[in-house]
Amino acid sequence: MEPFNRLESEVRSYCRAFPAVFVRALGARVADERGRSYVDFFSGAGALNYGHNNPRLKRRLIEYLEEDGVLHSLDLATAAKRDFLLRFESIVLAPRGLAYKVQFPGPTGTNAVEAALKLARKVTGRRNVVCFSHGYHGMTLGSLAVTSSPAKRAGAGVPLHDALPMPFDGDLGPGVDTLDVLEAFLASAGRGAELPAAAIVETLQAEGGVRPAGIAWLQRLERILRAHGVLLIVDDIQAGCGRTGPFFSFEPAGIRPDLVCLSKSISGLGLPMALVLIRPDLDVWKPGEHNGTFRGNNLAFVAGAEALIAYWQDGALSADVEEKGELVRQRLTALAARHPEALGEVRGRGLLQGLRCRIAGLGRQVSAAAFARGLIIETAGMEDEVLKVLPPLTIEREDLATGLEVIEASVAVALAELEGARPPVLV
Ligand code: PLP
Repeated sequence: MEPFNRLESEVRSYCRAFPAVFVRALGARVADERGRSYVDFFSGAGALNYGHNNPRLKRRLIEYLEEDGVLHSLDLATAAKRDFLLRFESIVLAPRGLAYKVQFPGPTGTNAVEAALKLARKVTGRRNVVCFSHGYHGMTLGSLAVTSSPAKRAGAGVPLHDALPMPFDGDLGPGVDTLDVLEAFLASAGRGAELPAAAIVETLQAEGGVRPAGIAWLQRLERILRAHGVLLIVDDIQAGCGRTGPFFSFEPAGIRPDLVCLSKSISGLGLPMALVLIRPDLDVWKPGEHNGTFRGNNLAFVAGAEALIAYWQDGALSADVEEKGELVRQRLTALAARHPEALGEVRGRGLLQGLRCRIAGLGRQVSAAAFARGLIIETAGMEDEVLKVLPPLTIEREDLATGLEVIEASVAVALAELEGARPPVLV
C-alpha cells in the first residue's frame, strides 16, 4: 500500500481493513485499480444512502457546476441553500408536522453534535448531558465526552467530562428497564445531583454494535426527560435519512426530539454537510455565536435537495428499505441458525442490520474473508463483534443477494480458519 503506509498518518483506519486502491464507483459497486469490483455493504459509513455517483444527483451537480453556481459561501444566502431549505421544509418537515429551525454547523457529523450540546447547555444554563452505554457521537472533545468506547476516549488526551453515562436499553440484562436508573437519578436532582441540560441518544446505535432501542423505551425516555425539563437530542447522523426505513429513525416511536443531528447522507452524494434541527423556541443563538468557514457547501445543498425530490416525495423508498431489510434479516437469521455456536442474534431496522458473532475475532475475520471475495462489510461493537450490513438504500436486489451470499461463504471460511485456534467465546 505505497505511498499510503509511508506518507499517511498511522491514524488511518478503514484502509487497513480494506487494502485496495479504489478508482471508480457506481451504485452499490466500487472498483479498485486492479479492476476488481466489490459490492459495497458499507456505503461510506452511511454517507451514501443513494449509492455512489447516483446518476440523477450527479447530473444535477454537473449542471450546477456548468452554470458557475456558487460553490463556497460561508453562511451567505445562496439560491442553492434556499432551494435546499424550502425542499427540506416541504418534503421532510411539513408532512411530518415538524417545525424545526435549521442550523448549518461545520460539515461533519461531530460538528452537528457539538452544536447541539452547546445549544442545549446555553438554553438550560446547565452543564451535564446524559449519554448512553455503547453510544457513539463523534471524535471531537464534546462529542467524545458523550461517546462510550474506551478505545476512542483514550485518544482525547484530556479528561472528558460534563457527561452522565446511563445504561442503554437492555444493558442491565433482560427484564430490567434501564430507564429506572435515569428516572431515579433525575428524581434526586435538587438533593445533591445536578439536573442535566439534555440527553443525547441514537434510536439505533450503529457504531456501538447495531443495537436498537425499543419503541416503548424511547417513548418513556421522552416522558421522563419532559417531566424534568431536560432536552432530548436525537443523533440521527447514521440512522437518519431513510436508513431504517422512515426519513427519521425516531418516527415509529412518535417522539418529538428538541434537537436532531443529521449528517452523512443528508447531502445525497457523500459531500460534507451537517444539520442541527432546533425546536424554534430553543433557537437562542446570537448571530455568529457558533461560526465556521465550511457551513456553505453549495454542492451539498444542490445534491441534497435533488435527493429529497427524487426519493422523499412519496413512501416508495421507505417501503423498499423495509422490504430489503426484511430480506437481509431473514438471510442472516437463517445463517445464524446454521452456526449457533458461532453466531448470535440478528438485530437492526431497515438497511442497518447487524449479525452478532459469538467467537472473539470472528467478525473481523469474516469481514476480511468477505473483502477477499469482493464484498466491503464493516464490523461494529466494542469488540468488533457485529457484522454491520449497511448497503446503499438503492442497492439492486441482485447486488444485495450477491453480498449476502459472500457473507455466507465468508462465515464458513472464517470458521474453518479459526478451527484449531480455539479463540474465546464471547457472551
Ligand atoms: N453520530 C453518529 C451516530 C455517528 O454514527 C457518527 C459517525 O459515524 C457521528 C455522530 C460522527 O460523524 P462524523 O464522523 O461525520 O463526524
